[in-house]
Amino acid sequence: MSRESLRSLEHHDAFLERHIGPNDAEIAQMLREVGHDSLDALTAAIVPDSIKATGGLALPPPVSEVDALAKLRRIAERNEVFRSFIGQGYYGTHVPNVILRNILENPAWYTAYTPYQAEISQGRMEALINFQTMCADLTGMEIANASLLDEATACAEAMTLARRSSKAKSNVFFVSRGVHPQSIAVLRTRAEPLGIELVIGDDAEAAGTEAFGVLLQYPDTFGAVNDYRAVAEAVHARGGLVAVATDLLALTLIAPPGEWGADIVVGSTQRFGVPFGFGGPHAAFMACRDAFKRSMPGRLIGVSIDAEGRPAYRLTLQTREQHIRREKATSNICTAQVLLAVMASMYAVWHGPDGLKRIATRTHRYAAMLAHALREAGVAVGDGFFDTLHVTGVDAEQIHNYASRARINLRKIDATSVGIALDETTTRADVEALARLFGVAVGDLDALDARVDDALPPALVRRSPYLQHPVFNTHHSEHELLRYLRTLADKDLAMDRTMIPLGSCTMKLNATAEMIPVTWPEFANIHPLAPASQWSGYRQMIEELEAMLVECTGYDAVSLQPNSGAQGEYAGLLAIRAYHASRGEAHRDVCLIPDSAHGTNPASAQMCGMTVVVTKTDANGNVDVEDLRRAAEKYSDRLAALMVTYPSTHGVFEEDIVEICEIVHAHGGQVYTDGANMNALVGVAKPGKWGSDVSHLNLHKTFCIPHGGGGPGVGPCAVKAHLAPFLPRALVDDVRTPGVGDGSTGMVSAATWGSASILPISWMYITMMGAAGLRRATQVALLNANYIAKRLAPHYATLYTGRNGLVAHECILDLRPLKDETGVSAEDVAKRLIDFGFHAPTLSFPVAGTLMVEPTESESKHELDRFVDAMIQIRDEIRAIADGRLDRDDNPLRHAPHTAAVVSASEWKHAYPRELAAFPLPSLRQGKYWPPVARVDNVYGDKNVMCACIPIDAYADPADA
Ligand SMILES: *Cc1c(COP(=O)(O)O)cnc(C)c1O
Repeated sequence: MSRESLRSLEHHDAFLERHIGPNDAEIAQMLREVGHDSLDALTAAIVPDSIKATGGLALPPPVSEVDALAKLRRIAERNEVFRSFIGQGYYGTHVPNVILRNILENPAWYTAYTPYQAEISQGRMEALINFQTMCADLTGMEIANASLLDEATACAEAMTLARRSSKAKSNVFFVSRGVHPQSIAVLRTRAEPLGIELVIGDDAEAAGTEAFGVLLQYPDTFGAVNDYRAVAEAVHARGGLVAVATDLLALTLIAPPGEWGADIVVGSTQRFGVPFGFGGPHAAFMACRDAFKRSMPGRLIGVSIDAEGRPAYRLTLQTREQHIRREKATSNICTAQVLLAVMASMYAVWHGPDGLKRIATRTHRYAAMLAHALREAGVAVGDGFFDTLHVTGVDAEQIHNYASRARINLRKIDATSVGIALDETTTRADVEALARLFGVAVGDLDALDARVDDALPPALVRRSPYLQHPVFNTHHSEHELLRYLRTLADKDLAMDRTMIPLGSCTMKLNATAEMIPVTWPEFANIHPLAPASQWSGYRQMIEELEAMLVECTGYDAVSLQPNSGAQGEYAGLLAIRAYHASRGEAHRDVCLIPDSAHGTNPASAQMCGMTVVVTKTDANGNVDVEDLRRAAEKYSDRLAALMVTYPSTHGVFEEDIVEICEIVHAHGGQVYTDGANMNALVGVAKPGKWGSDVSHLNLHKTFCIPHGGGGPGVGPCAVKAHLAPFLPRALVDDVRTPGVGDGSTGMVSAATWGSASILPISWMYITMMGAAGLRRATQVALLNANYIAKRLAPHYATLYTGRNGLVAHECILDLRPLKDETGVSAEDVAKRLIDFGFHAPTLSFPVAGTLMVEPTESESKHELDRFVDAMIQIRDEIRAIADGRLDRDDNPLRHAPHTAAVVSASEWKHAYPRELAAFPLPSLRQGKYWPPVARVDNVYGDKNVMCACIPIDAYADPADA
């Protein structure tokens, strides 16, 4: 009897067998279909010789799930979790367990995509509209967006919104010294290329400074709750705008900025149930006056109606955004922080207004009692605070030493003062321990409680109500919240139900083993300003991940600071800008961008003060090299950079990329390669080796961080050695690792390593795949895309192909001829796919009227076939329209998607059968996704902008109205 060898038995435990969808037999079958003998032969036929990497990736061999988790566990254990009372924008919080398990650890939420397809995203959009309502209510403003990347970048967005909206002629933006240091650091970075002059001064100077806007912090970074009413009036009197960075928990007790004159309010929602995570990810927010809504940055959820006249959510006012307005957009934000915004909104749903107020009051009481006890013992503590004490006149070093022995972190301010920020997690024992650091015994806390007054300035106590909508006053038992979360998740299509074949977005598997470490306390509970001795594990994991990414890309250094792809672009272009300046060529300001580029490219270039020059694409979808050459020659003196996506957004490997790099270099420019399509390259070719100077990667695409419904993300900026000094700097000066710049470029995110707590996901992925696994993933991604293109070829034309008639890792299906013939649009096909239970491919990007399909390596042949079958059935319906078997106006494509309510109504008004509407394929009878709303009306939504929770009576049946 032949026995299987131990080696082969072990091989079957390999993670890559689980990550990659098709098995060996299916791969062989699919290769036959596309006409190649092996994955290597297919790769050779697709990838140009000029860029092919020689030799495999120098990475360790693959590691099993069990071993990788054990290895990372040992690294995590090198972190030391102290009690952190540092504050400065990051506070302890209890993640409600029902939210931890059912949102953060639930693929129904974390694998969802940005809600462009409104009908299959109603659940997460309801959660986001709750978020917007929460932020608007608590700040006292009229409208709020659906999250920004972090508080520091939100401050920068407030600055540019103020500049767009202010009537004052001044070029100055005044920033209070009371603003958090990391926000000031990012403001400095962002102001300079835009020619904005930052003036940083004491609050009192704000009233007297000629400025288009001012930024105040309330409570300020040292905890003081200041009365800014007079300042706001003075600024307004000069035509300037008042932006305020604030703390939502404090606003449950103190007068909201909207009641004392703020025009724009930003902040972080971290302390609403999202752990420190060593700096991120957390959701920031922006609220503002209604008058500014068309100029606001970031995504905005609005209420519209569906085809049946019922309320339905959608992304509203998208014409502000980079994907439509490009370099004229209100910001470059694409990926934001949806998953974290959903968590924060549910924290408010869970606790409700009374619960939040209780948490805030308890925190405040502890702070007031601690302050009182310290003062009684002769320690000086500032007055008029919410949760943060500014202790002065002490030997700070000695206090920090005592604290360290008690495993406590306090904020380092200077030699004679320290900061102590209390929070939801603070206990009586903490108050006692904190007092002891100053040699003070607090005694009987209840007795202290009885004699200590609140420490809030009486004139600023909040009197107005908030969070009165029923959603914040209903789901307070665990069963209620559990079922609410389930109800919302069930409305949505995420990757736990179907492939999401979104070209350019790489919706691949987010494996459970990759997610598990994110919530380990050793990663989750480290404050971003904890002393370096407490995060040796983070340092090791970060340095290892940087080295892995360097190996995968062929660059020399990687910054993990950018917390989205667009932020990575910004960091990369800043590095190019600083490099030119360092060589006396600061005048180089032209950025060439092919017309097929993603909207973030021109938007990021604009933020760096560059002038965008668009170059053409040729008939095959490639960069038109002659047009590029002409532009490079024309702007030779001013050429700063070319931004090119590779393989192109047209889904092909351009043959001329090496020559393109040479042309740009010959004219003194730098080559920026948008790395969103790295999934076609890892283990096959390295941009850093074929002549590119810098790329951003999307760890939330190629390296398995889930999309979270529109964030979080990590957009590392990878550069050749000559650009490495110009990577973003660290917040704390003594931090030096290979991925931190020398200080000449500022910070682009609030924390040194941006969204640090999700980096273990990519570390796990690369560790478990190893060099061979990563290469195989790329090859199967190429195979899957070509298999789909091939199977669909008799039905849909693929717009562009590269050498040998093959596509890269995605293919663009051209529906424009069908529209001319039958009136069916690409959007109709996208909506009809919902009736089959599929999320549509990328719609009308990079070419209007097309669908871009990217299956990724993680989809099995079974799932690919299911998708192909749906697309073929849809094609048959289009044929039926063409030859008159289905009506040109009343057909299942035009009216898709079909809700259960429509299909089951006693009256059926359509010229096609109900069965065809609901069950176009027999397999759907076994399992059917029912969209909760019919097609959402975009025009109505943009005309009637409404961005807060729907009043309950709006749900009355429109038929009864
Ligand atoms: C996704 C993407 C980006 C932007 O990344 P975000 O993380 O969403 O900011 C940029 N370029 C291309 C080609 C992309 O596909």
